[in-house]
Amino acid sequence: MTNVTHLIDGHPVAGTGRSADVFNPSTGAVSGQVPLADDAVIQQAIDSAKTAFPAWRRTPAAKRAQIMFRFKQLLEENENAIAEMISAEHGKTIEDAIGELKRGIENVEYACAAPEVLKGEYSRNVGPDIDAWSDFQPVGVVAGITPFNFPAMVPLWMYPLAIVCGNCFILKPSERDPSSTLFIAELLHQAGLPKGVLNVVHGDKQAVDALIAAPEVKALSFVGSTPIAEYIYAEGTKRGKRVQALGGAKNHAVLMPDADLDNAVNALMGAAYGSCGERCMAISVAVCVGDQIADALVEKLVPQIKALKVGPGTTCGLDMGPLVTGQHLDKVTGYVEDGLKAGAELVVDGRGLSIDGHEQGFFLGGCLFDRVTPEMRIYQEEIFGPVLCVVRVNSLEEAMQLINEHEYGNGTCIFTRDGESARLFCDEIEVGMVGVNVPLPVPVAYHSFGGWKRSLFGDLHAYGPDGVRFYTRRKAVTQRWPKRASHEAAQFAFPSNG
Ligand code: NAD
Repeated sequence: MTNVTHLIDGHPVAGTGRSADVFNPSTGAVSGQVPLADDAVIQQAIDSAKTAFPAWRRTPAAKRAQIMFRFKQLLEENENAIAEMISAEHGKTIEDAIGELKRGIENVEYACAAPEVLKGEYSRNVGPDIDAWSDFQPVGVVAGITPFNFPAMVPLWMYPLAIVCGNCFILKPSERDPSSTLFIAELLHQAGLPKGVLNVVHGDKQAVDALIAAPEVKALSFVGSTPIAEYIYAEGTKRGKRVQALGGAKNHAVLMPDADLDNAVNALMGAAYGSCGERCMAISVAVCVGDQIADALVEKLVPQIKALKVGPGTTCGLDMGPLVTGQHLDKVTGYVEDGLKAGAELVVDGRGLSIDGHEQGFFLGGCLFDRVTPEMRIYQEEIFGPVLCVVRVNSLEEAMQLINEHEYGNGTCIFTRDGESARLFCDEIEVGMVGVNVPLPVPVAYHSFGGWKRSLFGDLHAYGPDGVRFYTRRKAVTQRWPKRASHEAAQFAFPSNG
């Protein structure tokens, strides 16, 4: 049994009050306990961050970055151990866990460029003997609240950049799979991070509400489901905080009649069923333009879905592990039942899958629905499981209208060989991240990640250049050193170069 602790002021802090079970999703057994922070624990973390801030903001950006270089090395040295921890609590396969960690490390690499990205902007002679510059200063104590589905990568979207920008950070990871997140934060301390610059507190709504209410916390980054994102955005901004709150998704892939079908099928298999569909960029709807491509797609998908290798994530060479909890398994199978009742055609039914020796695990095989229509719940809502819905339309315009009318706008992609269709799609689709023959267009670390519509509340996207802007405040300085002999008369008209 793992007894997870908080990490406050550079030290492990055991929980004293409420706690929650952590499961091994492959066996269904409880594998540990995670403490749920109360207001006093949150205040302890805030006090630690607040105390660390004055010295940390004065630490040269290059020195802050040097810690990130060492951190990157430690993450790479511990890749397998971290992947095993992720897999043991989340359920995703080891290979997938390594993939998530590598994408997280890319954000650490970006943070290593702190001196470059914080250089500011300078203009000489904006007026007589006057120079002007914009400085990017830290916001102060900032907090991040993260989801279960990327326990390594999503926290790494946030705190490396926030920290190199000179902020002190409080992380509230998902209580469902906290171990890898905590271990990674400990590695950052091994890399030389001063105490208090990063604190990790576990918890649920009570912990989050305490962070929202605290006047010392100046900014909140959130990644999770849309109802909670909207709540955190509303409550945080009401208190004058900066908030970026990334929410849920329903990502459509459009298949044009001229698509390279074999490539599209392979791409869809990974994007729909990888990580058991528990990705905010998972493709959950395939929109086929014309019955011919729809029939051909379904025909090719069926045998591949039936052949998916499913088992405990910690076994190498599998395609899919279990879902994260029994509760989530029930929710996803509930959607499958709902789709059937609504009249969609369940072409592959993954329910009732039993894995030898892991009969109590939270397993669900790949499911495929054909002839899904927009009024069905399985089309409208995020299922977050291995369920792909095929929708049939007659034109690209109809496909785009469908996507643009959906409440979510996280990711989308088009499979085509036609540049004109691809260009129209990129220009006019109301979605934040778009792929052309790329099923999971997750931006690299030096771009920024974020959806549109109800997939993101706030103005700035996560990580990359938007992340730097989110974690810094612009200060514009205008400076004049008048020549000793010159004295200007008082000027009552508004100063200008006119
Ligand atoms: P979730 O919203 O249940 O939880 C996210 C975080 O919020 C957790 O830390 C949790 O403890 C906290 N939380 C839960 N209930 C709360 C409440 N009532 N008040 C305050 N805080 C609360 O999300 P999840 O199930 O962990 O993750 C899956 C969801 O996250 C999916 O909807 C997925 O699309 C989304 N997601 C989005 C992105 C993105 O970039 N847009 C990335 C990953 C995941």
